[in-house]
Amino acid sequence: MASMNHHYTELQDSYLFRTIDQKVAEYKEANPDADLLKLGIGDVTLPLPAACIEAMHAAVDEMAVKETFHGYPAEVGAGFFREAVQAYYAKRGVELEPGEIFNSSGAKDDLGDILDIFSRGMNALVLEPAYPAYVDANVISGNNIVHLPSSAADDFAPYPDANVSADIVYICSPNNPTGATYTREKLEAWVAWAQEKQAVIIFDAAYESFIQDETIPHSIYEIEGAKECAIEVCSLSKTAGFTGTRVGYTIVPMELEREGLSLNALWVRNRTTKTNGISYVLARAAAAALSPKGKAQCMENIAVYKQNAQVLMDALDSVGVWYSGGKNAPYVWMQCPGGLTSWEFFDKLLNEEQVIGTPGSGFGKCGEGYFRLTAFNTPEKTAEAAKRLARVCASLQ
Ligand code: PLP
Repeated sequence: MASMNHHYTELQDSYLFRTIDQKVAEYKEANPDADLLKLGIGDVTLPLPAACIEAMHAAVDEMAVKETFHGYPAEVGAGFFREAVQAYYAKRGVELEPGEIFNSSGAKDDLGDILDIFSRGMNALVLEPAYPAYVDANVISGNNIVHLPSSAADDFAPYPDANVSADIVYICSPNNPTGATYTREKLEAWVAWAQEKQAVIIFDAAYESFIQDETIPHSIYEIEGAKECAIEVCSLSKTAGFTGTRVGYTIVPMELEREGLSLNALWVRNRTTKTNGISYVLARAAAAALSPKGKAQCMENIAVYKQNAQVLMDALDSVGVWYSGGKNAPYVWMQCPGGLTSWEFFDKLLNEEQVIGTPGSGFGKCGEGYFRLTAFNTPEKTAEAAKRLARVCASLQ
């Protein structure tokens, strides 16, 4: 008889976005003509930068010709892709070897898959509010979740607690959902904590391209000693609009060892066993996104999202509602006005103004009373949603 992984039954029953979808579907059924505005799921809306499209077309043409056709790719990443990532990091003064860079089909894949190289039943520290996949991937792996809540008092980016021990910790900066960033000083504290505990940091840099404050590190490897205690997971999803194209990368430094084992060597073995890599066409598109020309085009798209975030922040300012994020991230994390819970505010915004956001309580208990807005809709729809949002907030004061 097949023996099943019963940890799946420990997963929280209703995933946040499914519950939102259900509520929205019910609302639509009752109000078929409603003009719904989505400031909910963090998906991009602008098309791929021209440099990526050109690279993809050229790669498709190569695949059509016998002399330039490509079969199986290198499992851990084509040379040109690794070099593009290497050059991208070098611009910030981070030196990587090509062998430390692995391609992936997106950050979500590797944030969960990386657990394969650790033993089961370990303690995973999750700094909350957090992207839900960290908790779920660890529950499935049979790990214990240690929750470290944050609050407005620590700018939603906590320092480590010397009394808390864990084997791995997820740090996401800029953060989803709060938009918070970790300062150099806070990251230094986390690196020191990980070294002392012999823990491993899994640094999620999915939103690094949104950082505009020059003092905020884009990569954990900007911190001294991080190569001895951190894995970095990143993605082209939000940088280059690759949510539907699917390319990411993971850095596992050569220096990173635990219990006499090289984490890089384990990850090479894992990848060469479990995947045949990503497609040549997409790897070319990703390399183009990271090139100076491609990145400049990416930043033009990001500027549109940032302007949307500004419109949302202006609306909240106009009614005196507290929020964080928005500046270095595509997320604005607002306090629900009138003392409403996250789901009460969700219902009110949907029912009264047909605007959809994300309840903060879905990202951890300490998110209760907060609400996440995203800047990924069109400027026109964001402006209209901001007006409606301000109206609901004003009515609650
Ligand atoms: N990490 C964070 C914090 C995210 O918010 C997301 C997606 O929203 C991901 C990772 C997943 O990114 P990808 O599309 O590369 O799988």
